[in-house]
Amino acid sequence: MNETQPPTPHDALELLLAGNRRFVSGTPEHPNQDATRRTEIAPSQQPFAVLFGCSDSRLAAEIIFDRGLGDLFVVRTAGHVAGAEALGSIEYGVSVLDAPLVVVLGHDSCGAIAAACAAADGGTVPGGFVRDVVERVTPSVLAARAAGRGTAEEILAEHIEHTVDLLLERSRALAERVAAGRLGVVGLSYRLADGSAQLVAARGLDAAVPTAS
Ligand SMILES: [Zn+2]
Repeated sequence: MNETQPPTPHDALELLLAGNRRFVSGTPEHPNQDATRRTEIAPSQQPFAVLFGCSDSRLAAEIIFDRGLGDLFVVRTAGHVAGAEALGSIEYGVSVLDAPLVVVLGHDSCGAIAAACAAADGGTVPGGFVRDVVERVTPSVLAARAAGRGTAEEILAEHIEHTVDLLLERSRALAERVAAGRLGVVGLSYRLADGSAQLVAARGLDAAVPTAS
């Protein structure tokens, strides 16, 4: 990859999906994880993607996409809920660091989504600040169910797509870059058992979106 010219949104997505395919098949290359890379990028970073994912411990970004130092600008919150600090961090990766791709990464068996489903069913709403997480996931649960898409997989897909659209609604910086063709915002759905990431939403990419693994 050229160090001075960021890849296109499409190429950045293909880089990520290629890494995920290596991870899934058990043939990782562990790129950019050595001392040479560490020294090379110490003066400045140019990550090719902002990864906004759930904090789940099984979703370690550089591992599941087989990348290394300086590749991904990672922002993670439980249930990938986007409050002001998360939005600011994502905007930093795009506006200041010039990353051409934002990836929203959700996954099956997500505790935040399960808690939001339970709360919507009249169960207990968690206390403390966990409540804020659940409340930010709840609109996705309600929207999916209202559309007759109530399975766990459908709710997950809805929440990922909802997050993609929320980023573009809330952040003018992101929306402008997408409109200018300089940024892609995609949603990937990760399966814990086999480690694969499926594309479930794409904004700002041309029709020829690379196939997920
Ligand atoms: Zn989760």
